[in-house]
Amino acid sequence: MKRSVSDFLIAIGIFVAAFLIAALTDLNERWLAWSQTQGLAGAEELPVALSFFSLALGWYAWRRWQDATSSHQQLSETVQQLQVEVEERRLAEEHAHVLSATKNEILENEYLRSEKLEQVRVMSDLLASASTLAELKAITVDSLQHIVPDHTVSVMFANPEFNLWKNAGSWGPHSDQVHQEMRLNDCWVLQNSKIYKDLSNTQTMSCPQANMTTIKSVACFPIICRERAFGVLHIRSDKLTENLLSTEDEKMVIAVCNSIGLHFYNAQLRAELSMASNRDELTGLLNRRGLGNTLKREIKASELQGYEVTVAMIDIDHFKQYNDTYGHQEGDKALKFVAEYLSRQIRSRDVLARYGGEEFILILPNTSKIEAYKKLKKMIAVIEELSGKSDTCMRVITLSVGIATAPGDSTEEEPLVKYADMALYAAKKHGRNCVVGYKKPSPKRTNTRQI
Ligand code: GH3
Ligand code: MG
Ligand code: MG
Repeated sequence: MKRSVSDFLIAIGIFVAAFLIAALTDLNERWLAWSQTQGLAGAEELPVALSFFSLALGWYAWRRWQDATSSHQQLSETVQQLQVEVEERRLAEEHAHVLSATKNEILENEYLRSEKLEQVRVMSDLLASASTLAELKAITVDSLQHIVPDHTVSVMFANPEFNLWKNAGSWGPHSDQVHQEMRLNDCWVLQNSKIYKDLSNTQTMSCPQANMTTIKSVACFPIICRERAFGVLHIRSDKLTENLLSTEDEKMVIAVCNSIGLHFYNAQLRAELSMASNRDELTGLLNRRGLGNTLKREIKASELQGYEVTVAMIDIDHFKQYNDTYGHQEGDKALKFVAEYLSRQIRSRDVLARYGGEEFILILPNTSKIEAYKKLKKMIAVIEELSGKSDTCMRVITLSVGIATAPGDSTEEEPLVKYADMALYAAKKHGRNCVVGYKKPSPKRTNTRQI
């Protein structure tokens, strides 16, 4: 381009210079004079021809300049276009970079999410196979650590007996500040049965977990099912944020807590049912089913430890008459009375069960026959005395007891119970309100005797 312009200017310059030189030096006249003296035919036309030549040259240069200008324009347009393209490409690359970063982030989130979902699946399987509340609690804490790994988290379980929440596990940056216990009523999330988030007013909350000095945001998730509260999941952060968890994570945690609640509910129902089927409804004592293999176990233990175990069959005297006289309801009250006052007099390791009707069985580990005899004599004397004084009983209640001891009488469960029953029969025969120990029959003697 520059060259074309300069060519054009040079052509103009040459033309102007030639014109000036010719004008200043009278070159035209001199040429005419010289060509006439030389007799050159047509030479006088040369200046005019040169003029035309110069014009042609100028025209040529002008065209070249125009061409050059237009190609310059084209070039500049191309360059501009290229610059636009380069910019577009740069933006596209930048965009692609951002996209790829976003994609990576999405992939990473997806990966973490799929890992959490896998944890939820594993947790569901484990919860389904857990048989006790203690197992459920352990699985819950362990699984939630993987499902909610961020922030300061604690899992508390209800202990209604003591009206307390007890911390079962905590993790995260401020887990050392987590309160180990709090009163049941101090938990707002259970009173409202929904997630509680507080961003500004935590100091007025009675929940000690939310009032930790470092905590600015809190989200709590109840573990409840059918209005039974089992636990609460506290998530806390030292940052002031409305979104402790992403919307997806929050939904997942709610679903997980509901599922845990359902498992706790089922386990509690199972425990209640099993309790109900193993317990006698009237007296609350173990029933024969609840007694299960207790005697067998105690006999085994006595063998291993080298001590005696005594079994006592206890029967209320003339109870049919009691019912007939005062009615079945009064009979029930008397039965409950006897069960309660027998229970009060035994050791924690002794086992008392309602064997059926108005009969009870008492297993006394590490107790010889003579010790059991003394103990039971005292027990029936207490019942006799208290029933006479009590408003619950319509009259004095007396008991007859038969006892048999392992390993002396037998080392087998069934014979031992049978011998205790035989001794009880002997006690009835001996006038009731007494304790009789089983005695192995000698060929010529009776099979029982009163100690
Ligand atoms: P004995 O001194 O020989 O043992 O005489 P008994 O009347 O106590 O014995 P019997 O076996 O003849 O009668 C037992 C009575 O116990 C009959 C039954 O009505 C009563 N009984 C059994 N189970 C219950 C119960 O759950 N509630 C009430 N009220 N009575 C019961
Ligand atoms: Mg009976
Ligand atoms: Mg009886």
